[in-house]
Amino acid sequence: MSNSSPRAKLMYPGNEPSRTKIVATVGPSSDSEEMLADLVRAGVDVFRLNMAHGTTDVSQARLERIRKVSGELEIPIGILADLAGPKMRLGAIPGDSYDCDPATPIRFVHGETTTEPNAFTTTYDPLIDDVHPGDKIMLADGTVVCEVVSKTENAVLCNVIQGGTVRSRQGVNLPGSKLSIKTLQPADIENAKWAVAAGVDFLGLSFVRSPDDIRELREILQEAAWPDKPVPHIIAKIEKPEAVANLDHIVAAADAIMVARGDLGVETDIAKIAVVQKQIISACRRKNKPVIVATQMLESMHTESMPTRAEATDVANAILDGTDACMLSGETAVGEHPVLAVEMMHRIAIETERLVYARLLEDAGHRYLKLARNGRKKASLPESAAEAAVYLSDVSGAKAVFAVTESGKTILLLSKIRHAAMTIGCSTNEVALRRMCLYWGVIPTRLNASTPRSMLEEVLQRGRNDGFFKKGERIVLLSDPSNGTENRRLFYVHEI
Ligand code: PEP
Repeated sequence: MSNSSPRAKLMYPGNEPSRTKIVATVGPSSDSEEMLADLVRAGVDVFRLNMAHGTTDVSQARLERIRKVSGELEIPIGILADLAGPKMRLGAIPGDSYDCDPATPIRFVHGETTTEPNAFTTTYDPLIDDVHPGDKIMLADGTVVCEVVSKTENAVLCNVIQGGTVRSRQGVNLPGSKLSIKTLQPADIENAKWAVAAGVDFLGLSFVRSPDDIRELREILQEAAWPDKPVPHIIAKIEKPEAVANLDHIVAAADAIMVARGDLGVETDIAKIAVVQKQIISACRRKNKPVIVATQMLESMHTESMPTRAEATDVANAILDGTDACMLSGETAVGEHPVLAVEMMHRIAIETERLVYARLLEDAGHRYLKLARNGRKKASLPESAAEAAVYLSDVSGAKAVFAVTESGKTILLLSKIRHAAMTIGCSTNEVALRRMCLYWGVIPTRLNASTPRSMLEEVLQRGRNDGFFKKGERIVLLSDPSNGTENRRLFYVHEI
């Protein structure tokens, strides 16, 4: 595998990565080392392993290939394992499909399959107990809508409100019903333990309803922790109405958030989805948590080499809403054009970010005005340091802020300020570098030096080697000379 990718260099001359991070799902279309490397060169920052499909052996093999490719290209790449949670599906349907007709009521019964006419089974046995007359049961991604009319101990009778064809194993959603099942299923717990042992960076939790779901997962992860393997950061997937209602508490409890629009668009009124997306992103920005917008971003690129106008606009709008990352699902997992899909997302991001920079420059004045007004309020040391680095960068017209960090916390603060200069997140810690892969605008860069002075020398040397710096350009370097043991930060403003 060649190491000629411009992304392997410290600062990407002529091929600047997008500030918006790209998450790509791995599947049969993207399984090979060659394809994974091409996707990284095209702009992928984080690969997602969907634990709903395949065994942990399959995920382990994928993880090892990703780590190998990342090492060979010298580009830190994060890995997100996505736990399926209590995903409900239809049981086997005789003949595989059934046309739901509004003129014919249907029934849900217990069991794995049934030969009763107009009757279905599901993988969620408590369904009959959990639904009540008036509740909706959505089938096949919400394309078929049923309403519960009555129930007995062994069956639920429904009218079909919106008809359509359903197939065996298609999804079932109960948007208004209070589920008696736990969010973390036994298979999720097993997969979470595997994720800790495998050194996965991020763990997605599906169908989160309350912050307790996140606390429960965190306890399981901490119990399973290995001395040399830090526990994965938890990404709460917002896809249930209860999660939207509990949003601020869930954002506070999780390490990051995913706007999981696939199930969200079934569980909530799809007419509200754009507004809910904006609410979720704002909540994450207020609490300094990274956020990913997911599902159907470039859906038509499953088969087409170009997205629709609406899809290209959707990616751009998510970036303008302030998302940290955009995600590709089937487009890279099973699609016909995985590399084209990533390249397209990257190009849309680069174009959209021009508008973002213009706004950032306009907003800088407002930010300082706000800071000056709140100036006497004592911010934490990392917050003050991040603000001061951005201020130094703005007043000196610096090209980039280099922030040296062990944990990556200061880098997340710098990312959330959304300033116009590049943020180069420098660390010797591989885990911190991989976590930065989800932070908007941050280029994770491995450094070898350990003292602030020698780090500045290393940054300057590598910047010169990569042809990144021009004479007269400036950079700001923010470092913690004591590696977190003392309350001190050091700044350099350097002119080349
Ligand atoms: C979603 O529902 O949008 C999502 C990302 O989750 P999954 O792909 O697991 O259904």
